[in-house]
Amino acid sequence: MLTTIAGFDRIGEENAFTVLARANALAAEGRDVINLGIGQPDFRTPDHIVDAAVKALRDGQHGYTAANGIPALREAVAADVHRRLDIEVSPELVIIVPGGKITMFSAILMFGEPGVDILYPDPGFPIYRSMIEFTGARPVPIPIREENDFAFSAEETLGLLTPQTRLIILNSPANPTGGVTPKAEIDKLVAGLAERPDIAILSDEIYGQMTYDGLPHVSLLSYPEIRDRLILLDGWSKTYAMTGWRMGWAIWPPALYDKMRKLAVNAWSCVNSAAQFAGLAALTGPQDSVGAMVAEFDRRRAIVVEGLNKLPGVSCITPKGAFYAFPNVSEAGFKAKDLASRLLEEEGVAIIGGPDFGVLGEGYVRVSYANSAENIERALARMADFLTRNHNTAAAE
Ligand code: PLP
Repeated sequence: MLTTIAGFDRIGEENAFTVLARANALAAEGRDVINLGIGQPDFRTPDHIVDAAVKALRDGQHGYTAANGIPALREAVAADVHRRLDIEVSPELVIIVPGGKITMFSAILMFGEPGVDILYPDPGFPIYRSMIEFTGARPVPIPIREENDFAFSAEETLGLLTPQTRLIILNSPANPTGGVTPKAEIDKLVAGLAERPDIAILSDEIYGQMTYDGLPHVSLLSYPEIRDRLILLDGWSKTYAMTGWRMGWAIWPPALYDKMRKLAVNAWSCVNSAAQFAGLAALTGPQDSVGAMVAEFDRRRAIVVEGLNKLPGVSCITPKGAFYAFPNVSEAGFKAKDLASRLLEEEGVAIIGGPDFGVLGEGYVRVSYANSAENIERALARMADFLTRNHNTAAAE
């Protein structure tokens, strides 16, 4: 019998991919499935970005690049951060990676081991907990609550610190809740962390350009006092509708940068060369597609929230960022995961049960509005039918 290291018995999943596979299988059988499950923009990558990749391939960009990314792209990332956030970052601290996920994988691998605590948001992106458990570290959930508008609380987070805490993972705007943590709360957290310079911070800001109602994105990069221990995760996947290109970027602190670069050399050598040229075109070319996409998400957000609030037993606060709503379904008469799976099997509507994002996700489901307004309306109508039909019987059981 083959024996792997114990971590592989603890590694988890991202159920959005399982739901996607099931939704595709049902669609292949001829069912009309509306997918509000997967977390990716339903837009095509803008043409000028695709053209840049094609040109790079035609021009012969077929070889390895530097492990940390082509210099022009690292410079473009630094310039983009400066343009958007008015923050100076050295291109020497930027690393190009194959997707945002690689940054969380690497950061958690770098700090996790038995005897160590790692704090992560719950409900939150499922890979945080999975990777923490893989390393043998103790996963310590930071509760993300509806009554707090799905923002994290600085006080509660600081209260979870122990002498064993080595890494804190933060995510705003957040998946799966769409929550955006206010600046005052981040200020408080950063101030509290001043006493713990031994703790690294991983700030997942992959939805940083998706906030609504004029709310500015507050980047952890804007706090000079933590820059020496901040790992900033971002990338192209969501902002430029490039999930399948596997392109991400990160900013690592000087003390860790070379460790991360060496991990890249050991694991993936470099990111696909043509994709890096596409990433360059994305950052240096016109940005109007980003604004147009976010404006469309905003329009759909209103439709989703209004529609969800009309469903029997469902209430939904207005998300402030990303492209997810996280309605409370605790009065709908179903366990959240049962509701999600019955909606998929019986109504052809794919959503994700809240418990797939953590224990505090019970009583909620994640509805992605990265689908056309028309499909969202159709999905809401099917959900209304289903819940009206089943609500009373389920509640009586
Ligand atoms: N971080 C969060 C919070 C996400 O929701 C996702 C993707 O869904 C990622 C990171 C990973 O992004 P990528 O597809 O670039 O690996």
